Amino acid sequence: MIVPFARRMLTETDPRLLWTFTWNFGVKGVRSVQKFKKRLAKGEHFPPFLYISVINSCNLRCQGCWVKVDGPQQYIDADRMDRLITAAKKRGNSFFGILGGEPFMHPQLLEILGRHRDCYFQIFTNGQLITDDVARELRRLRNATPLISIEGTLEVSDARRGRTDVLMKTLAGLENCVRNKLIVGVATSVCQSNFHELVNEAWLRHLIRKGVHYVWYHTYRPVGEHATPELALTPDQVLHVRRFVVQMRSRLPLAMVDAYWDDKGQALCPMATGISHHINPWGDIEPCPIIQFATDTIDDERDLFDVLNGSAFIRDFRETAAAATRGCIVLERPDLVRDLVARHGARDTTHRSLGAGVREIDAMRPRTSQHNPGCEVPEEHWAYRFAKKHWFFGFGAYT
Ligand code: SF4
Repeated sequence: MIVPFARRMLTETDPRLLWTFTWNFGVKGVRSVQKFKKRLAKGEHFPPFLYISVINSCNLRCQGCWVKVDGPQQYIDADRMDRLITAAKKRGNSFFGILGGEPFMHPQLLEILGRHRDCYFQIFTNGQLITDDVARELRRLRNATPLISIEGTLEVSDARRGRTDVLMKTLAGLENCVRNKLIVGVATSVCQSNFHELVNEAWLRHLIRKGVHYVWYHTYRPVGEHATPELALTPDQVLHVRRFVVQMRSRLPLAMVDAYWDDKGQALCPMATGISHHINPWGDIEPCPIIQFATDTIDDERDLFDVLNGSAFIRDFRETAAAATRGCIVLERPDLVRDLVARHGARDTTHRSLGAGVREIDAMRPRTSQHNPGCEVPEEHWAYRFAKKHWFFGFGAYT
């Protein structure tokens, strides 16, 4: 798998862009995790990976989306992003996840990328606003990979995303990325309506033919204003996705990302391990994207390190989650989320109606997540085993 995959990357992407990925994400990314481990050893907490929702607005209306996409537009402007990214760079960070809403609706997105050419950005997008001009500019900047979400074939995409012609418009954006030799990925939030269509080898081979270099299967989280819990996967389906991903990693010339299992197949929560936390479009610092409560913001005059390392709310969230489960505290123990919010007097950061956040948590029925004890599926491919063993595991959160 490695040789055909390497051949694809060397022949299908711009070599200068591939070098920037290798250095800014690969080498500097590993260094940032090493620095994270050193901080942990000193009892300090600052994540090597920040996920930043730069804007709330979006041109789609997806089931299960937790962002207030139809509210007044809110975004983190380039100067506030500079302050945030610069503070994180001081701690050795070089990789940033850029989310929304739809990030390409942000008026200064390309400018922000241009101001930090020494970093690498993964942009979570529906792809519909990636014109040929935008893709060409991303090629010139070299430091970003679009991760384009596809939630089903024609009908399912429209149903899942609340608009028409969704898939065709998304594929047009994907084609612009491929034509401009970008490193491009496809993400799917696997749920009942796309499980059979998108969790199979034929679909992955179709994506490879379309020029896609990596995929990320998320597990649908029934949260937010339009939670649609009936779309959530059963434990057997989650296990099937895990087995499928591990198998395909050894078979196909395509990288497959996951954020929920270590090299031995033990579940983990990126928030509980402290490897990543989230910043919403208002600048609130949240434990993770779907936990819409906060006590801290990026606009605090203190250094970002002191804000995050000193946050009793975020520390308590990590420790409570890790003590309760190796899975998702929001899915498995919404009651504990409720208690943490009350204990720290955390603000509701949904920006929906008053008290919406707590109401939505109260309405959640506990359910299983990625943690399925006794059904661990270890990595089969040596490259994933090695990478996870050294740079993506529990980091001591689970005793
Ligand atoms: S709390 Fe749940 S959704 Fe958030 S990072 Fe952990 S597993 Fe993922």
